[in-house]
Amino acid sequence: MLLRGESTVASIGIALAVILLCAVGASAWWAIRTLREDAQHAEADRIRAVVAMLADSAESMMNAGELSAVRRLVADAAREHGLGQCTIMLPDGGVVAASDFSKHPAGKLVMSLPDRWSAGLNPPADQTAVTQTTLTIDRPLTINGHGLAALHVQAPIEVSVSRFWGAQAGLGVIGAGSMLALLLVYRHSRARLRAVGAIREALLAIGAGEGASSALAISADLGAEASAWNQILDQSDKLRHDKVAERARESLGDRRRGKSDLDEACDVMTQGIVLVDEKMRCKYANGAAAVFLHADRDQLHGADVRQFVKTENVKTLLDDWASGRVRQRTTIEAERGDAHFGEGVLRVSIRPVRREDTGSAMLVLEDITQQRVAEEARHAFVAHATHELRTPLTNIRLYVETALDDGENDAVLRAKCLNVINSESRRLERIVNDLLSTAEIESGSFSIQRDDVHLDALFAELQADYEAQAAEKHLEVTFNLPPKLPVIQADRDMITLALHNLISNALKYTPEGGKVQINVDPGEHSLTVDVIDTGIGISDQDQERLFEKFYRAQDKRITDITGSGLGLALAREVVRLHGGDITVQSAIDHGSTFSMTIPGAADAA
Ligand code: ATP
Ligand code: MG
Repeated sequence: MLLRGESTVASIGIALAVILLCAVGASAWWAIRTLREDAQHAEADRIRAVVAMLADSAESMMNAGELSAVRRLVADAAREHGLGQCTIMLPDGGVVAASDFSKHPAGKLVMSLPDRWSAGLNPPADQTAVTQTTLTIDRPLTINGHGLAALHVQAPIEVSVSRFWGAQAGLGVIGAGSMLALLLVYRHSRARLRAVGAIREALLAIGAGEGASSALAISADLGAEASAWNQILDQSDKLRHDKVAERARESLGDRRRGKSDLDEACDVMTQGIVLVDEKMRCKYANGAAAVFLHADRDQLHGADVRQFVKTENVKTLLDDWASGRVRQRTTIEAERGDAHFGEGVLRVSIRPVRREDTGSAMLVLEDITQQRVAEEARHAFVAHATHELRTPLTNIRLYVETALDDGENDAVLRAKCLNVINSESRRLERIVNDLLSTAEIESGSFSIQRDDVHLDALFAELQADYEAQAAEKHLEVTFNLPPKLPVIQADRDMITLALHNLISNALKYTPEGGKVQINVDPGEHSLTVDVIDTGIGISDQDQERLFEKFYRAQDKRITDITGSGLGLALAREVVRLHGGDITVQSAIDHGSTFSMTIPGAADAA
């Protein structure tokens, strides 16, 4: 029923009115009582004075024997001064004068004083008695030569209440006037008092723990006090907000004011660290976290960190934490395949900061893209290597079994089996060596041993090797060598391995009747070897991936040609370790050209 703040105002107003009315009532009762008592006293005093004068006059008249004059005096005095019953009597009961003779038997009337009234009669008393309503006076009158007579007066002294109507009406008017004035004042100050009451209620709410200013604000219609109160709330809100922001800034370390060593240390970390409160508001974020969340660090402070997260599973994790569903250390991985995070994988873990304080938490954001790629590469490597090793091993096992079963009596079959076993063992050895070299290069433990490499001798060996093989396959192989080749500083085994890979590929992937050319150019600053074939050629897509480990072209024509896909990858790695490179130019069905360059060849020579 009552508006906010009204209850207080109403209770104050009612209390004031009751107090005022009680005060007016009490003072009225007291004033009337006092007035009445004063009037009774004055009346009694007046009657006493009249009775005293009456007694003196009656005494002298009776001494003079003028009883009729005494009777008139008594009658007049009783009538004019309101003496009520007024009687002069002799001790024997005879009535000399009375205000009302009808109350006395006629036989008792004394027309003349007796000479002397008989002795032994009680002398009349001299006394005064006062009750609430009457004043009774008995006075002895001395009659010379006769004895004592008695004057008895019984006068009403009750004061009529109507005499005080004036005073009562006055007090009533004062009371009503006061009430009216109070009402007017109350009406005038009601709105303001309501504001004060509402402020009081808001203060009590603050005492009870309410902190939200929206709940504490009061209607601005309640006047200036209400507006002032709301302003105070706004200012206190702003101050609180500023304080929080300032604290956050302090804890983050303002760059301009200089950062602590700890801040500096956190900023050089590659993992993102975000400290959040129980409502997921950011209390601290290091530089990496700001990068991962694509936000300014200033923007992050005090803001709900979820608004910067675009990946669904991370959002769900943060929601679960904020709602209390998850409170133990949790780690998830988020694919950053969206426009927000870019490509890659992000590992997000959340953990409580303190065991007893389950609200605050630390978020750790970590880019594990490289880790994931390396893991995938390792898995692929193991899968490929296993596959590549299994083929020659299976061949060896099969031919050994054949040789054991049937070779005892068949020398030709036995020789053929041993040949296959031999070549498969070599292939196995080469694959294992390639794998070892690749693993060493990847782990960084592989190093080249530079020494004098006599290119003349090296190419002479290669020429002898491959001319024989080419003849077997009906290919034409040509070595275009300059008359004199230099001696270079390089790892002979590695250079030989790379050249073997290039030349053997040319022979492998060129069908019968084709041509293979090896051009050697000992340039001024580098040695260049071009291996040109008229083979099957390589598509543009395959050229892009040719140097990856285990990669083989997607060309149906090579399915029957054995190979692990490691040769070119290894060749390029070792040439790069020498500071050079291997490049390819090819067109499908038109052959390929692989160029190997090693710098510093001529200088070394
Ligand atoms: P490995 O050399 O380990 O025994 P491989 O020859 O298949 O096996 P690489 O030497 O690395 O592996 O060659 C990779 C792929 O490149 C080959 O599988 C082949 O498809 C293609 N390639 C390489 N050289 C040539 C070439 N001269 N002409 C056509 N394709 C080639
Ligand atoms: Mg090869």
